[in-house]
Amino acid sequence: MKAHHGMYIGGEWRPAAGADTIEVVNPVDEQVIGRVPAGTAADVDHAVRAARAAFPGWAATPPAERAAKLAALRDVLVARKEEIAETVTAELGSPLPFSQAVHAGVPVLVAGSYAELAATYAFEEKVGNSTVYHEPVGVVGAITPWNYPLHQIVAKVAPALAAGCTVVLKPAEDTPLTAQLFAEAVAEADLPAGVFNLVTGLGPVAGQALAEHPDVDLVSFTGSTAVGRRIGGTAGAAVKRVALELGGKSANVILPSADLAKAVNVGVANVMSNSGQTCSAWTRMLVHTSQYEGAVGLAAAAAAKYGDRIGPVVSAKQRSRVRSYIEKGVAEGARLVAGGLESPREHGYFISPTVFADVTPDMTIAQEEIFGPVLSIIRYEDEEEAVRIANGTVYGLAGAVWAAEEAEAVAFARRLDTGQVDINGGRFNPLAPFGGYKQSGVGRELGSHGLSEYLQTKSLQF
Ligand code: NAD
Repeated sequence: MKAHHGMYIGGEWRPAAGADTIEVVNPVDEQVIGRVPAGTAADVDHAVRAARAAFPGWAATPPAERAAKLAALRDVLVARKEEIAETVTAELGSPLPFSQAVHAGVPVLVAGSYAELAATYAFEEKVGNSTVYHEPVGVVGAITPWNYPLHQIVAKVAPALAAGCTVVLKPAEDTPLTAQLFAEAVAEADLPAGVFNLVTGLGPVAGQALAEHPDVDLVSFTGSTAVGRRIGGTAGAAVKRVALELGGKSANVILPSADLAKAVNVGVANVMSNSGQTCSAWTRMLVHTSQYEGAVGLAAAAAAKYGDRIGPVVSAKQRSRVRSYIEKGVAEGARLVAGGLESPREHGYFISPTVFADVTPDMTIAQEEIFGPVLSIIRYEDEEEAVRIANGTVYGLAGAVWAAEEAEAVAFARRLDTGQVDINGGRFNPLAPFGGYKQSGVGRELGSHGLSEYLQTKSLQF
């Protein structure tokens, strides 16, 4: 795998300030596939200066020109789709067809959507005797996780650039090669020097330096609630804008009128996809007591079909984290009906697709985010109890509701404390706002809501 030994700052690859490196490991065979520099506060400072210097010019660039640059970036992502998919597969371990369709495919849609939005968004509006200007916030510090390495980057960088902001990105240490490929794409699309800058490095070093940098105007973070809380605190103390996309523990509520087999099969596929490393995964399946055993049987059979085809989890650390949750599920009395601790392969960070039945709402596996291929099936007696269970965690990122009639599912969905709900298997919409209620986060990504995160208003009265 190709790896750059420098940081992408001010439109060029520059040597890192320090000599430390980070090893990139292929989770399928545990082999080192590359090394990238471990950035320091000095690298972050260089990158923020470059972003600051580029800001006035980019902010003053007419939206239609910014849109054209984003369209060029989307075209490069299309042209390099295969290379992107192979890189994600190498460092994340996801099966190649999934990397092609999702990891490389979705960022093209999102970049394309912001190319269109930049051209059509109302950056200026009339409100009575005022003209309101929507102006870019400034320099953005973007900190991203590894689970959808390119999507997470594009979901921040594309709207920030569309808004007229400039960006310093600190990607996850497990998947920096995809971030370097993105920097290459930015260069190839001929974006002005300094509008996008990349500093690879460890979270507590480079990430923290970026979040704390006094010349960063907005921090956009996606990752764990623990780190998000800390970043939110730092930003709050500095009276700085912050957007947090954090964890989830979403409910898949199957109402008695639903097509049970379809709801269970789609639900299992949703959890196992990307090896369960999806913050919006429906990891709690809520089933009415009358259909409970039927659903358990269907889910166990569906999970068993996957075997090692879902790919490994990203790292040894993540594997041991997920395994400790499986141990906890057993210890707290849940019934293991598929998978478990036994790995489907001798090498690689594989975990068997795992299903627990007889999970009660207070169990650890029903409350905490596992971020692995583990599904908990919970029983409910009536609709009131289903609402209580679905809303009974600190999270509120996503969810699903299944019913024979859409109206019934919608009525139930309106009672959920969560940022998005798929009705009867509704498809992903790259224009719909994505983000969390409660401790799942602050702010929204995607579409026009995602764009407005990077804007601030100025009102002129006449
Ligand atoms: P993480 O919070 O450990 O890391 C995320 C990013 O933050 C990485 O780039 C990391 O280097 C950086 N980081 C770590 N410590 C930092 C610090 N002290 N200061 C600044 N930056 C720091 O999370 P992870 O383990 O990489 O990702 C998994 C978590 O992310 C899960 O909890 C998952 O739910 C969450 N997630 C949420 C969403 C969402 O959109 N809501 C999407 C993907 C992942």
